[in-house]
Amino acid sequence: MPLIPADAHDRRLISNVHPLDWRNPQPSGRYNLVAVGGGTAGLVSAAASAGLGAKVALIERELMGGDCLNFGCVPSKALLRAARAVADARQAGRYGAVISGTVVADFSAVMERMRRLRMELSEKDSVSRFRDLGVDVFIGAARFSGHDSIEVGSHTLRFSRAVIATGSHAAALPIQGLAQTGFLTNETIFSLTTLPGRLAVIGAGPLGCELAQAFSRFGSQVTLLEAEPSILPREDAEAAQVVRQALEHDGIEILESCRIQSVHAAEREKIVKLEWPSGFRELPCDELLVGAGRLPAVEGLGLEAAGVEYDRRTGVKVDDQLRTSNRRIFAAGDVCSPYKFTHLADAMARIVVRNALFYGRERFAALTVPWCTYTDPEIAHVGLYDHEAVRRGIAVQTFVQPLSDVDRAVLDGETEGFLKIHVRQGTDQIVGATMVAKHAGEMISELTLALGARIGLATIAGTIHPYPTQAEAIRKIGDAYNRTRLTSRVSWLLRKWFAWMR
Ligand SMILES: Cc1cc2nc3c(=O)[nH]c(=O)nc-3n(C[C@H](O)[C@H](O)[C@H](O)COP(=O)(O)OP(=O)(O)OC[C@H]3O[C@@H](n4cnc5c(N)ncnc54)[C@H](O)[C@@H]3O)c2cc1C
Repeated sequence: MPLIPADAHDRRLISNVHPLDWRNPQPSGRYNLVAVGGGTAGLVSAAASAGLGAKVALIERELMGGDCLNFGCVPSKALLRAARAVADARQAGRYGAVISGTVVADFSAVMERMRRLRMELSEKDSVSRFRDLGVDVFIGAARFSGHDSIEVGSHTLRFSRAVIATGSHAAALPIQGLAQTGFLTNETIFSLTTLPGRLAVIGAGPLGCELAQAFSRFGSQVTLLEAEPSILPREDAEAAQVVRQALEHDGIEILESCRIQSVHAAEREKIVKLEWPSGFRELPCDELLVGAGRLPAVEGLGLEAAGVEYDRRTGVKVDDQLRTSNRRIFAAGDVCSPYKFTHLADAMARIVVRNALFYGRERFAALTVPWCTYTDPEIAHVGLYDHEAVRRGIAVQTFVQPLSDVDRAVLDGETEGFLKIHVRQGTDQIVGATMVAKHAGEMISELTLALGARIGLATIAGTIHPYPTQAEAIRKIGDAYNRTRLTSRVSWLLRKWFAWMR
């Protein structure tokens, strides 16, 4: 995957994650573990196993660090931070700061900063670091040649255990004319050197919403296209609505429930033909970003030779202990997970290390997995949504704390948003929580811990939170729960108690 503009930062990045002069080591004997893919899942599996003293190989065909470092979390969050700085500067007048003139983004400076930070973070994922950890690093495409062997270039590696960690890639959408017209994906958008004047974004999931907001704040005229009736369709509908308002406030045009009929290139622009039950529209744009649809990377891996079952859409089939249909081979990360997050790829890799190397019985289903969409405001979630609880027959009681009633949010001027916690009816046991707030991603971990460790709202209410912090929203819901314990009988008893005390 060529990186553009291939400046000093990108050249340094390449020398870390795909050194052009790298010579693969000579494999010797059987490996305890071969990690196939050098993204988060492969790197964590390899580093943890080598750290325990196992003989480990790691095979990466493109860039160590995978999507997260090169084309995903890292570059996108660098852009989002820059976009937030621009938006904050534009709104600084609300806080009494005077900025003379208009605030504009210097797109080439924004991208240069992103490339520099990505390069700096790449040291941790570098080939040389993993070599120094004792891992045999092979650069090249891996292909299973049997039940306990895998080939890379001219080498054949034999293994006692392997983990498939080949990740996912953007799906080719079946839209007429899309391939011929040309479009951006997460693998190319971070190579842009000029800001598109008009950007159409296909798909209003996390990736689409985050990048739509960033490019809008940099100055692109952005249109966000979504087939579902609402943006962020997997999220709590009320939370998604708060983000929708914020995106519109940023000037993004949001078109929901629309079908893309076709795309074609016209003179110096691209035309997207949109269709609704009620009519049609032609949308001209300069660039088109496909932000919808990920497919697991299962092609060309020789999975048949290894006896590993897979599905082209859902990926490698694994049991709850992340073992494939070949008992020697496990899988972790995007290639086998319904949820595609770096922190989950990391957690899955840790399960694989315990189960593959130590006959452990760690279960994927036992994980408590939070996630966050890093729009401004952010949406973070953990556990069940209310509709999921209903589907599972779990009766819930829901507590909502608006940020407009949290002092720090008022002082920060960040009152759009709320925290919603569902508890099992009649108890303080948390079954799910959604937060929409400027820093929701930083606050969800307290609720993830509570959910995972079965810490109830009564304990949270008794936990001192520093004043003033936005995390007080969590404690306030604990207080709200405690108030529900004040039944009429308890009130009657209290009145009697105070009368006796007088
Ligand atoms: C724009 C964007 C933003 C994102 N932001 C976030 C975020 O903020 N937070 C978050 O948690 N997640 C985020 N994600 C998701 C996250 O990037 C992925 O969940 C994570 O990278 C998955 O890690 P992985 O190890 O499973 O796969 P990958 O990172 O995809 O790594 C797989 C590696 O395997 C290699 N490979 C594939 N086939 C072979 C082969 N045959 N031989 C050798 N090597 C092979 C690939 O080259 C790749 O390097 C984002 C994704 C995108 C696209």
